[in-house]
Amino acid sequence: MRRSMLAVLLPLVMTAPVHAQGTDARLERLKTEALEKVNARAKLVQEIVDMLFSFGELGMQEFETSRYLTGLLQQNGFTVERGVAGMPTAWVARWGSGKPVLALGSDIDGIPQSSQKPGVAYREAVINLAPGHGEGHNSGQAVNIVAALAVKEIMERERIPGTLLLWPGVAEEQLGSKAFLVRAGVFKDADVALFTHVSNNFGVSWGQSGSNAMVSAQFRFRGETAHSAGAPWRGRSALDALMLMAQAWEFRREHLPPAQRSHYVIVDGGDQPNVVPQTATIWFYLRERDYARVTEMYDAAKRMAQGAALMTDAQVDTIMTIGSAWSAHFSRPVAEATYANIKRVGLPAWSNDDITLAKALQRELGSREAGLATEIGDLGGPVNPERSLGGGSDDIGDVSWNLPTVTLRYPANVSGTPGHHWSNGIAMATPIAHKGTLAGARVQALTLLDLLLQPKIVADAWTYFRDVQTKDTKYTPFILPTDQPAIWLNAEIMAKYRPEMQKYYYDPSKYGTYLEQLGIRYPTVKPVSDDGSQK
Ligand SMILES: [Zn+2]
Repeated sequence: MRRSMLAVLLPLVMTAPVHAQGTDARLERLKTEALEKVNARAKLVQEIVDMLFSFGELGMQEFETSRYLTGLLQQNGFTVERGVAGMPTAWVARWGSGKPVLALGSDIDGIPQSSQKPGVAYREAVINLAPGHGEGHNSGQAVNIVAALAVKEIMERERIPGTLLLWPGVAEEQLGSKAFLVRAGVFKDADVALFTHVSNNFGVSWGQSGSNAMVSAQFRFRGETAHSAGAPWRGRSALDALMLMAQAWEFRREHLPPAQRSHYVIVDGGDQPNVVPQTATIWFYLRERDYARVTEMYDAAKRMAQGAALMTDAQVDTIMTIGSAWSAHFSRPVAEATYANIKRVGLPAWSNDDITLAKALQRELGSREAGLATEIGDLGGPVNPERSLGGGSDDIGDVSWNLPTVTLRYPANVSGTPGHHWSNGIAMATPIAHKGTLAGARVQALTLLDLLLQPKIVADAWTYFRDVQTKDTKYTPFILPTDQPAIWLNAEIMAKYRPEMQKYYYDPSKYGTYLEQLGIRYPTVKPVSDDGSQK
C-alpha cells in the first residue's frame, strides 16, 4: 500500500516544475501574441483618442463620448448597461464569464475653456472659451478598450475563464462619480481594478499614494432682496454672507498644515448690482491627506458658513456635497506585475516631429526643454503621510479602498505643462498621444494576461488588501446615503458651446487623423531665431 502510494505521488512531485514551466511558456507565448494584437489596432487607438478629443465634453455631460464608446464595445460583443448609479453618462460594459473579474477604468471628462488646436505649440483655440481636453482624459479609454479587445480574442480561442468589465470615470474633475459607482455595486464582484491615467511617462506605484483626499461642496446662502439704492436697509445680502465665509477661510488658511489644498469659485454672486443678492453660492474644494483631516476641514467650513449667516442676518440655504475622493492606496502585487510589463514594453520611439513639438511647447511655457520621456522611472512606493506636502486628488481613491487597484500612467503627453490648461491638450490628438496610448494598451494587455493566468497574483493582491492596506483603515465614504450625483454639472456650459463644437467632431470616414481634418501641419511651432530666442 505504502509503496504503491509513493509510486503514484512521485511522478506528480517530479512533474510539478515541468508543469509550471509549461504554464510560463504558454503565458509567454500568449503575451507575445497579445502585443501583436494590440499593435494591429494602432488605427483604432488613434481613432478613439482623436474622437474623444474632438468631443471635448465636460463632466456629467459626456454624452457623445459615452455613446461612441459603448457603441464600439457593443459592436465587439460587450454587454452594456447605461445610466449606471443614476448618472446618464456612466456605463458598465461586460464580456466573458467567471473569475477573475477585471475592472478596467479611465476618466473621460474635459476642462473648461481649454479648447486648443492639437499639434500647434502655442495658444490657439479651436473655439474660443469652449471646453476641451486640457488634461488628456481623451486617451485612457483607448488604452483599456484596445487591450481588452486583444485579450478577449485570446481568451475566446484558448477558453480562458474571466470577465472583463469596462467603466468610465465620469466627471473626474469634480470627483463626481467613483464613490457613487462604488455605492451602486459596480465593483462588488470585481477582483482587481486596473485604472489608467495619462501622463508624460510610464509609471505605477503601490501603497499609500501622495494624492490628497477631497470634498467638493457648494454652500448656498439666502438673503432678502431690495433696491440697492432705494431701500438698501431692507435688504439682507446673501453675497455678504458668502464673502465673509470666504474671508474666514482665508484667515483659517494660515493655521492649516502644508499638505492641505483649498480653493473656491463663486458660482452665483447675485444678478446685478442694484438688486441686493437674494442668493449666492460658493463652491469649495477641500483637500487633505485623509478622510479624518478632510472631514475636519469640511466641518470648519460649515461652521464658517453658519457664522457668516449670523453676521449678515442671511441664512445658510443648502450645503451640498457634490464630489469626494479618498486618498488612493494601490496594490503592491498588481503594481509589481504592471511595472514588469512597463519595463518589457518600453517607451515609444518618438519622431523628430514629436520632439520638435514637445520642445517648442516647453519653450513657450518657460519650462525646461526636456523633450519627451526617454527613461522609465522606478516602481513607486508608499509615501509617508506625515511628511506629505499634499497635491491633487482622484476619486479612484474610493475604488482603491474597495478592491485591489493600481493606476497605470502612460506616456501620451509632454512634461512641463501646468495641468488643467490649454497646453495640456496640444499633444493629445497628435502622434505623441497615439503612440503613448498604444504603448499603454500594450502594458494593460500584458497585465490582463498576468491576472487571468496567474491566480496567485490576484490571491496575493487580496492578501495585501486585507492584511496590510485595510488592517487599520476602513473605508467610510464621504457621501451620505442621501447624496446624489451632481448630474446637472456643466449642463449650461455644454448647452452654450456644443452646437459650435459639433461642427468639429472627428469624422474618421473622411480623414485619416484629426490633425488632417483640422488642416494642421504637424508640428506647427513658432520660428526660432539664430540666437535661440523665440519670435
Ligand atoms: Zn485626470
